[in-house]
Amino acid sequence: MDYDFVVVGAGPVGGLLARRLSEGGSSVLIIEEHAQIGRPFQCAGLVNPEAMELIGLHDTVLTSIWGARIHGPSGEVVSIGSPDTIRTWSVCRKLFDEAIVESALESGAELWLSSSPKSAEQDGDGVSITISTPTGDVDLRCSMLCGADGSHSWVRRNFKMGRPKEMMIGFQIEVTGYVGENGKLDMYTGSDIAPGFFAWAIPSGDTTRIGAWSKAELLGGRSPEQLLNALMHEPQWSHRFSACREVGRFCGPVPSGLVKHPLKGRVMLFGDAAGLCKPTTGGGIGPGFMHVETTVPNLLKMVRGEIPQSKFESIVTENHKPIRKEQLRARALRDAFLTQMNDQELDEVFSVWSKPEVTELINEVGEIENPIPLGMQMLREVPEFRSLAKRAIKAVLWG
Ligand SMILES: Cc1cc2nc3c(=O)[nH]c(=O)nc-3n(C[C@H](O)[C@H](O)[C@H](O)COP(=O)(O)OP(=O)(O)OC[C@H]3O[C@@H](n4cnc5c(N)ncnc54)[C@H](O)[C@@H]3O)c2cc1C
Repeated sequence: MDYDFVVVGAGPVGGLLARRLSEGGSSVLIIEEHAQIGRPFQCAGLVNPEAMELIGLHDTVLTSIWGARIHGPSGEVVSIGSPDTIRTWSVCRKLFDEAIVESALESGAELWLSSSPKSAEQDGDGVSITISTPTGDVDLRCSMLCGADGSHSWVRRNFKMGRPKEMMIGFQIEVTGYVGENGKLDMYTGSDIAPGFFAWAIPSGDTTRIGAWSKAELLGGRSPEQLLNALMHEPQWSHRFSACREVGRFCGPVPSGLVKHPLKGRVMLFGDAAGLCKPTTGGGIGPGFMHVETTVPNLLKMVRGEIPQSKFESIVTENHKPIRKEQLRARALRDAFLTQMNDQELDEVFSVWSKPEVTELINEVGEIENPIPLGMQMLREVPEFRSLAKRAIKAVLWG
């Protein structure tokens, strides 16, 4: 073998994976199709405290976010959070990605930039790959090929490993001049702005990231850019956007729903390539990191020959069960509370959320990254949501 592991993709998940594998004593090659790390990126830059704790990159934080203003379609606002509890971090993705990949290199991994796989085939105990590099094609062999190559993963397609259950579209611009509140992000809902989903304005240091996500089939022929225009010109809050000056724009898919075969013999998928983004927030960094952390110890054992491949496969299958279940529940809750609602129903939900006792419940139990406990408690305890429960309960409890 030339390497124990070849990791395709030097995004945050590929970077952490390569670092952990190198720290475990394996030889690792990362190949990245771009000439630099962290560009281009499609991300609002939110990293949850759990993921940040793991990676310790607080110096990449642009703004600490402790609260949110959530807007109903007709303008009802629910304001949550308190400055003494940081809920999430808004980071510079370029610095964040660079620092993770750098830490992988410090642990011993090798990185080839401007390089991508041309072909790959696996046999019993390894994978043979041809890699296109700036100095010509290189053939090599590794024990395990890891696809951390994002939402359109070449590895996933080449080895026919399935498709993420949902592929949302995210569109975002970075602006100066947005009138927000310090430490708070804004979320906007409504069928003209983000049908079935939500739009956001996230403080990121001197700028604000304004974006929306939805599904192609819900757009009714509109482009995501048109949705963002609708948000910025909506009379209820257009004053917040009137001084905005665009300094960047990003568009990308948000793959959610673990693919059918994330592991096929000596090939495994990670991060967006595997379909790990959360159905409720679109966040992919946190779940991608957690998946790496739970998988790597056994992956190392398998490659060292300490456990047979069949044992590794059954461990992975077991580890993936709760991920699938969690995604299913979160999607069911999102559908019940957001995606399947029309604007009138959403307004009714907001009028309940804005009641002091319900806002208090949201503040107590609510977590941006894990809304399931809150959703379940609301279905149980808020009388107005009982009819919603019928819609959600089957999938949430037994799905
Ligand atoms: C608009 C938008 C906003 C988002 N906001 C957030 C957010 O706030 N928080 C959050 O957690 N998530 C967010 N996400 C999702 C988040 O961006 C991804 O989940 C995260 O980047 C996944 O990391 P990754 O390493 O798996 O993949 P990526 O970051 O996509 O990295 C994949 C890497 O592989 C490389 N690559 C791809 N193909 C090849 C190839 N064939 N050969 C070699 N290299 C290749 C790419 O160049 C890239 O460097 C957002 C997504 C969108 C679209």
